[in-house]
Amino acid sequence: MADGLRAVVFDLFGTLISTDPNDVLATRRSLADDLGVDADGFARVRTEMREEAETGRTGGPEETLAFFARRAGGAPGPAALRRAAERWLDANRRWLTPERSTLDALDGLRAAGCRLGLLTNCSAAVAPAWADSPLAPRFDATAFSSEVGFLKPHPETYRVVCERLGLAPEQCLYVGDGGDNELTGAAAAGLHPVLLDSAAGARMAKLLVDHEAATWTGARIQELGQVAPLLTTETPTA
Ligand SMILES: [Mg+2]
Repeated sequence: MADGLRAVVFDLFGTLISTDPNDVLATRRSLADDLGVDADGFARVRTEMREEAETGRTGGPEETLAFFARRAGGAPGPAALRRAAERWLDANRRWLTPERSTLDALDGLRAAGCRLGLLTNCSAAVAPAWADSPLAPRFDATAFSSEVGFLKPHPETYRVVCERLGLAPEQCLYVGDGGDNELTGAAAAGLHPVLLDSAAGARMAKLLVDHEAATWTGARIQELGQVAPLLTTETPTA
């Protein structure tokens, strides 16, 4: 591999998987129903409390749903919380089913000797669903914001995933669709950022904040199959 690159750190949502925004929004409405709270209130609380929920401060899936419900004026019982948590995990398992072409691209990178890392901002429902995903066995290291305790673009998130890969940031490409200013954060942390400018990312963009795809002037690719050639040519610069 050229220029000492030894690994690729990937974002999850809009990068390795493409979730249908309508499915995401419908799931949120069903969760509100399960919890006995108003759907608009649930959506508002979820947005307002995103940092608390995605840095693990609200606990696991059931505790987080109970927290959201209380903030939205509800008081769901144990059975309702279990039902909602199961729906939330099922939805994440559905969303963490990648395209065959994604698995092929990851397998190609692994066959070339590249280590793979995952760095995602996410709720407490994602890590349990990840364990059941065909993505999981292909990765050497993962860092979920819900267990790291920080959200991208905080430098600690990038430091943790590089440490778990056993590599310096300079040895890692970072590939993402640009949500949460993750590319700027990756560059600041010393990784080599690449924008995945895909239809999946564009579909997700309306659910995201601080999406930098439109303003990114650094390296960019249109599909995951274009990652491998970046490792055998010159290092992309931000
Ligand atoms: Mg993303």
